[in-house]
Amino acid sequence: MTALLKTARPEDVFQDLFRTHESDQIGSKYRKRLAQVAITNGKSLIIDFDDLISFDPALARSLVEKPDDYITYASSAATAQMRVEDPEYAEHVGKIFARFRRLPEKTALRKIGAEHIKKIALVDGIVVRTTQVKPTIVSAVFRCRKCLEITVLDQEGELIHGPGSHCQFCKQSTSFELLQEQSKFKNTQEARIQERPEDLPPGQLPRYLEVRLEDDLVDSARPGDRVSVTSIVRAEKQAVGERGRLRTFNIYLDANFVDVVGKETEVVEITPEDEKQILEAAQDPWVQRKLVMSLAPSIYGYEDVKEGILYLLFGGTAKQLPDGVNIRGDENVLLIGDPGTAKSQLLQYVSRIAPRGLYTSGRGTTAAGLTAAVLREKTGGMILEAGALVLADKGVACLHPDSQVLIDGISTRIGHLFDAKNAKIAVTKAGYHLTMS
Ligand SMILES: [Zn+2]
Repeated sequence: MTALLKTARPEDVFQDLFRTHESDQIGSKYRKRLAQVAITNGKSLIIDFDDLISFDPALARSLVEKPDDYITYASSAATAQMRVEDPEYAEHVGKIFARFRRLPEKTALRKIGAEHIKKIALVDGIVVRTTQVKPTIVSAVFRCRKCLEITVLDQEGELIHGPGSHCQFCKQSTSFELLQEQSKFKNTQEARIQERPEDLPPGQLPRYLEVRLEDDLVDSARPGDRVSVTSIVRAEKQAVGERGRLRTFNIYLDANFVDVVGKETEVVEITPEDEKQILEAAQDPWVQRKLVMSLAPSIYGYEDVKEGILYLLFGGTAKQLPDGVNIRGDENVLLIGDPGTAKSQLLQYVSRIAPRGLYTSGRGTTAAGLTAAVLREKTGGMILEAGALVLADKGVACLHPDSQVLIDGISTRIGHLFDAKNAKIAVTKAGYHLTMS
């Protein structure tokens, strides 16, 4: 059997995997997923890398070594299998993308370098910005201005390449017109992911990488999301005007799949079992005392401080009064005390247990600073990059006074801002106003 598989075309092996893996009476795991894709009007078949390893380790290794070729094989196998499952939908959608998740090995964002180029990598990070979605031409249709014959050219790279100045049909020197309506487009978007604060080596500023998103991956993650990106690492040449190209290249990630993971609030699911336990606990007359005691239990005493923090973690209820006045439900806690009285310990504890908790300490947590930075895109548009408070939106931002944040491009200690004369944080920059709720 294995000998047979080795000589088989990779497309066929992938299709075998989709057809047979984890089969029951209703069908295999991936046949069910394909049916789901057709129902939800999707374009992608998501493949767990573990399945590939257990099905055919050699194929898994080839995919890691030559992702460009093997992802194409997997995609055509997925498309072929879709034609079997739901011919009508396959016809409608045209092509199914094979997307891989949960690779066995992660590559640290900071370590991505020359040796990873054209290889597959799973990189963790936080999305700090996304650009607008732009249609990119994939197949351009040109018409000769003299004989009106049509030439179709597939497009790659940054610039549109045309058929030149000589027509292959009328054999004359001519010019061509690009027929926009008949050309094919796909959506593209750029996102920037930054190292997660917990992955930062001490004393380092976070690094970031650009991620290119295409087709249905567009808008699959928002700023503030923690993501695991399966991607092919690519290098792009930098042009310097007329002088030619630089020898140094820019690295970016060509995304194959974006897995939104982590402490996202929506991900916290309360099962009926949990609900029962919560309601039971609510009946306990000592529930408040018990909760206070279970917050950072290794820190002795401080019941009143812990109680305050507990109220912050639970949050209040936002109210709207009949005259339209809003009363916020969110609370802030400012902890002041002598050095060595476990303030930082409590702070770190809270950032660990809170959904979307974010702790900023002596090192810079985000390149964008505390709130947000407005930046100019290469193409002229303006984009907003999320800072620490935005990343912790709907969560808890734990700010240590020693935190260094960039404010107006200057690294500043947060503690410094508590001086009344410095207490000014600019959020409104370049006409953008940022609101958080
Ligand atoms: Zn012509």
